[in-house]
Amino acid sequence: MADTSIEWTDATWNPVAGCTVVSPGCTNCYAMRMAARLDAMGMRKYRGLTRKSGGRAVWTGKVRLDRASLATPATWKKPKRIFVNSMSDLFHDAVPAEFVAAVWAAMQATPQHTYQILTKRPDRMAEITASLPVLENVWLGTMPTISRALTICAGSMLPSDLFRSNRCWVLLPELI
Ligand code: SF4
Repeated sequence: MADTSIEWTDATWNPVAGCTVVSPGCTNCYAMRMAARLDAMGMRKYRGLTRKSGGRAVWTGKVRLDRASLATPATWKKPKRIFVNSMSDLFHDAVPAEFVAAVWAAMQATPQHTYQILTKRPDRMAEITASLPVLENVWLGTMPTISRALTICAGSMLPSDLFRSNRCWVLLPELI
């Protein structure tokens, strides 16, 4: 985890590192550039996740799970808003459903925190979260159009759960 200057969150937590481009919204991916910097600084977690292409860092397609980090939020007693996977996408195809379930268990065990999960893979998010408990302290966000996001989220839960639980957290384009 790291403290962050992102104004809508207090900290970042990265159980997964590495990704692949999936939509036009990935063009200016901050995580790609940051992963290259962290690799250059010798951080093993980010080794080999990016390569240089045309003078810029691009993902290699390698996605790394960090199981040790699952225990980290429980060590923070003070409530935080936590941006989950600022360096990846939790719902990337390379992240097994059982690992997402382990992330869920870590979040369920730490209700003092509020978790913010953003994805550009809303279909897989809907598929996987359909079999996971609704957690009051987890906000899910996606970046397609708002109407599509609501359709996806509403399809995975009872309508009454939708707003009560903050399960859908739709970001406007100017925030992404
Ligand atoms: S999904 Fe997110 S982390 Fe992955 S390439 Fe796109 S912007 Fe970057």
